[in-house]
Amino acid sequence: APMLVYEDVRKRYGGFTALDGVSLHVNAGEVVCLIGPSGSGKSTLLRCTNALEAIDGGEVRFEGAPLPKAEAEIRRVRQRMGMVFQSFELFPHKSALDNVAMGLVTVKKLAADEARKRAQALLAKVGLADKTANYPANLSGGQQQRVAIARALAMEPHVMLFDEPTSALDPETVGEVLNVMRALAEEGMTMIVVTHEMSFARRVANWVVVFERGRVLEQGPPHQIFETP
Ligand code: ADP
Ligand code: ADP
Repeated sequence: APMLVYEDVRKRYGGFTALDGVSLHVNAGEVVCLIGPSGSGKSTLLRCTNALEAIDGGEVRFEGAPLPKAEAEIRRVRQRMGMVFQSFELFPHKSALDNVAMGLVTVKKLAADEARKRAQALLAKVGLADKTANYPANLSGGQQQRVAIARALAMEPHVMLFDEPTSALDPETVGEVLNVMRALAEEGMTMIVVTHEMSFARRVANWVVVFERGRVLEQGPPHQIFETP
């Protein structure tokens, strides 16, 4: 069975329909890219995936079960989902190492030295072995985003949700973040990626979903979506 199933998902903000009957699924080990114009509902779908927003109709099933409604259960589901936003949202008064280690102590209940060792390894994995002591202000945007990815990975998520992870970056640091994401995909991480990076979608995605005005305009393998007639 797919890891995530969306069935006729609907979401309104007041009188505005942000999602107007979206159906798709995400298989384990696959990368699904959500593309389409700004305002078409891509980010709303991600926020409905980890229950940052409640849906108004239809269903989202994660690992076989509909998303729960109770806050305590939602928190448990969220621990299986890593989220990376456009803005990195690191803690400014903590080093890169402590940004990653913190959740390992508070959520994963690791001892402090164990958490630091694990955080060190995660930062090495995203190419930041020599920046562990830096505070966010002393890291480039691309480096901060890689810390954010390492922090999300620390929770050992079953799926990673990326919401325009490179949109706020200087052009010269976009590539290093996309490379980390591509390496994750090659390791078999299940990923949903909202992106305007069409070459990433074309090369890395297994499945591309094109949004328009809260609906799925088309979906298919990248060679089909990007073929030029
Ligand atoms: P159904 O309505 O039978 O669930 P879909 O319309 O969802 O079928 O998909 C039709 C076919 O498209 C599937 O059999 C599968 O091969 C492919 N497909 C759909 N979604 C994905 C996805 N997220 N990743 C890979 N292949 C997919
Ligand atoms: P995308 O990610 O494709 O750019 P979004 O999902 O962010 O699109 O937004 C879809 C639409 O829903 C937009 O028109 C946006 O203005 C609206 N929207 C998103 N969040 C809210 C909110 N909290 N309140 C009101 N409208 C919202």
